[in-house]
Amino acid sequence: MSIVDKYLRRINRLRISITDLCNLRCIYCRPESGLDLSKHKDILTYEEIVTVVRHAVKLGIKSFRLTGGEPLFRKNIEYLLQMLGNVQGIEDLAMTTNGIYLKNYAKMLKEIGLFRLNISLDSLDEAKFEEITRGGKLRDVLDGIEEVLHLGFKNTKINVVAMKGINDDEFGEFARLTLERDLEVRFIEYMAMNKENLASGDKYIPMADIIDIIERNNELISLPPPMLGSGAAKTYKIRGAMGKLGFVSAVSQPFCNSCNRLRLTSDGKLRSCLLSGGEIDLKTILRNNPTEQQLTDAFLRAANLKPSVHSGKGHVVMHQVGG
Ligand code: SAM
Repeated sequence: MSIVDKYLRRINRLRISITDLCNLRCIYCRPESGLDLSKHKDILTYEEIVTVVRHAVKLGIKSFRLTGGEPLFRKNIEYLLQMLGNVQGIEDLAMTTNGIYLKNYAKMLKEIGLFRLNISLDSLDEAKFEEITRGGKLRDVLDGIEEVLHLGFKNTKINVVAMKGINDDEFGEFARLTLERDLEVRFIEYMAMNKENLASGDKYIPMADIIDIIERNNELISLPPPMLGSGAAKTYKIRGAMGKLGFVSAVSQPFCNSCNRLRLTSDGKLRSCLLSGGEIDLKTILRNNPTEQQLTDAFLRAANLKPSVHSGKGHVVMHQVGG
């Protein structure tokens, strides 16, 4: 079976936020004062997450990404990964992490069978990194990235949220990380969360401007879109580089018509879109001894809530939904 929504998009990916807790407080994601976080009992258990994944596979969803909050901040994550490793039919299992704990976890992640990692990194300058993350240590992330490359993970991506006046002076340096490393550095358009318009505020830079800045000192070659995957990023290469550059333009050029994913929030909502559309309370269904048909219906209803195009408004709680 497979899920096709009313705009004929085939849904084959699920992004799972396994916790709303994080060890960092990045300026674009969380307020300094902290947040009202869910109580432990309201967060899906690992067993519940695995039930959802098993069912999703039956519905043709074969590609999964764990995110958060910070996924490596949730206790005993190896237990979840072991269980996921036993689910037949998963074709891709990835994780988005801030990389702070990666040096210690990378070996376990490799051994347990995680396919791919996206690592968030918004500055290569120690002091600026500490400012953006409100206390993170750049060295931890850099060591984590080197460890991941050393262990031979493929298709590793570095996620850079592009912010005017904050890290736009570093775009070239970020791009040149790909010269001798098998990495994709992905520039993500900053979204003004909790605002009427995602492009509002003084930090937003559209993709075209990010590319212009990089092209001042580097020759970029445009790459064809991947045969498989969500097509969320436009990809380029610096001539002669080992790695790639990706640009995610959710604000200036939404890629909703090729969006093939649903999202599971840490508190068990099956969301149709990061930014708009509706959600299904899957946790309540899961905790009431559901039949297979009830789980299928929940997925079908969530898929049908997917809007044709997102609203362009940032009324979303990123730490729960997971970026
Ligand atoms: N803690 C993990 C991490 O740092 O990668 C996973 C969760 S974090 C919410 C996932 C991604 O969300 C980050 O890579 C960041 O790029 C993205 N994100 C969060 N807030 C954003 C914003 N306001 N604009 C653009 N991207 C954002």
